[in-house]
Amino acid sequence: MTQQPILPHFRAHAWPLLLVLALLIATACAASPTTDDGRSTAITRQRSASATLAPSPTVEPSATPTATPAPSPTATVVPSATPSPTPAGLSEAELAEMRPNELGWALVMEYHLIEPGEDAEYSRTPDSLRADLAWLYDNGYYPITFRDLASANFDSVPAGRSPVVLTFDDSSIGQYNILADGSIDPESAMGILLAFHKAHPDFPPIATWFPLLEVDVPSRILWGQPEWVDQKLQHILELGGEIGSHTVTHNRLDQLEESQIQWQLGTSQRTLEERIGGGYDVVSLALPLGIYPANEALIQAGTVDGVPYGYLYAAEVAGGMTVVPYAASWDPIHIARAPAAAGYIDALMGQIERRPSLKYISDGDPTTLTFPSEATLDEEQQGTFDAARWPDLVVRRYDRALSDE
Ligand SMILES: [Zn+2]
Repeated sequence: MTQQPILPHFRAHAWPLLLVLALLIATACAASPTTDDGRSTAITRQRSASATLAPSPTVEPSATPTATPAPSPTATVVPSATPSPTPAGLSEAELAEMRPNELGWALVMEYHLIEPGEDAEYSRTPDSLRADLAWLYDNGYYPITFRDLASANFDSVPAGRSPVVLTFDDSSIGQYNILADGSIDPESAMGILLAFHKAHPDFPPIATWFPLLEVDVPSRILWGQPEWVDQKLQHILELGGEIGSHTVTHNRLDQLEESQIQWQLGTSQRTLEERIGGGYDVVSLALPLGIYPANEALIQAGTVDGVPYGYLYAAEVAGGMTVVPYAASWDPIHIARAPAAAGYIDALMGQIERRPSLKYISDGDPTTLTFPSEATLDEEQQGTFDAARWPDLVVRRYDRALSDE
């Protein structure tokens, strides 16, 4: 059985799929940008193999499917090298049952259009979104925001559960539609999230939304209903969700002058913050089409008309599962996402089902980082803990039993 590209690195054999995905997203996910301000260019060309999507070759996964990282139950167990001075509250029995792995990989789901019809690379039907949520729930996932993932704030994730970030790009009306009677369209993503939460109270309707502000398809400007924008923004936040930026006009940032890049990044951040009010900080960015500017420093700091802006975290458009901030290969402005694209996401989910030991699984204790001993970690995660960057964390290692996986 061949391995699918679920690893949090861009692997060579995943490039054809990534390029196809990027092309399809490029041609379909965004409205054509406006052209009346001189800042815009048409989004019609296939992306080049941007150097910014370079792999992070910290761990080269084995090409041989026989190299299963799960140790056999009879394997010699190497004692944990760093026994915790103050173990988390979990008992040995609870550890064996729950198998916490706070060095494991998280999942950032990436949605674009939510609309009836057929699933495609850039659109998901309402029923498929419902099925995705059911799968996530059944596989122990618990929604948090992108910023919480990126800032290693996993406090809300219950013991035994795994963090997932639901991200929605491009603010199309199918993501959040309000009907004529003022109710939320149950076929829109927000309606689906709320209904799923009602049926599953331990799965909060938390998502991170990356809206567009100025495109020539009105239904993709801040969810397409100008009279409801403020209510939608506030509602998303009241539910515990997050508003990020997807730039103003969805232009490819590799094709703009640096002043234009700063305008896109700074103006979208400031506009959203002013519209949301209450001192809200927009800290997360989804790169249009996943394409980075040549000068990536402009993501984290720049100015527009002398006013500074900056993003702390930025989302890729592909990549599979993502490492968490405790890993040495963590890069806060290159956070991998899993496109909810037909075929791709099914393969990814299948891989996660086959190798659940790769997942981040919470120990339920924010004060302690619990993950398996080196000998009982999956090989892709061995040696990846960035202890130097997390000197104050209390770490608890334990010998994980994987025999019944
Ligand atoms: Zn987009």
